[in-house]
Amino acid sequence: MMSRDNDENWMRYALQLAERADEEGEIPVGAVLVLDNRIIGEGWNRPIGRHDPTAHAEIAALRQGGETLQNYRLLGATLYVTLEPCIMCAGAMVHSRISRLVYGASDFKTGAAGSLIDILGHPAMNHKVEVTAGVLAETCSSRLSDFFRRRREEIKAKKTRAASGEL
Ligand SMILES: [Zn+2]
Repeated sequence: MMSRDNDENWMRYALQLAERADEEGEIPVGAVLVLDNRIIGEGWNRPIGRHDPTAHAEIAALRQGGETLQNYRLLGATLYVTLEPCIMCAGAMVHSRISRLVYGASDFKTGAAGSLIDILGHPAMNHKVEVTAGVLAETCSSRLSDFFRRRREEIKAKKTRAASGEL
């Protein structure tokens, strides 16, 4: 059984991966896929840079996990992600047959693990993913709100410069 400490350690690693997204100007979300306490996949959000609407952190981690195991079924794996997954990523988790999802911040706009809709807990699903929510939730959510605050400030500064004829 995974301990709470263990979950927090992997979530810290997922937060480091989220930094890479930030450095690339993407919404900072990171994901790491773990099997038997070993990383089999990891990724960060990069749809803008990749020109790919599916390039979410979770999808990248699941794809790499499949490559690592040479199997499209990732039985027994746990996916750690800093933000509650969207509908697409929750669907991919069902297809991948991972055992467990651990996420940090809830996403009330697009979360598909219960916030907006509950894909993973839906009774019609042929595969059940165990969900642990809210691991390092405050750190994960302040990481995201920092990003959006910075972005708003950048947009505001740009508008101010444009208004004063500097641009
Ligand atoms: Zn997603």
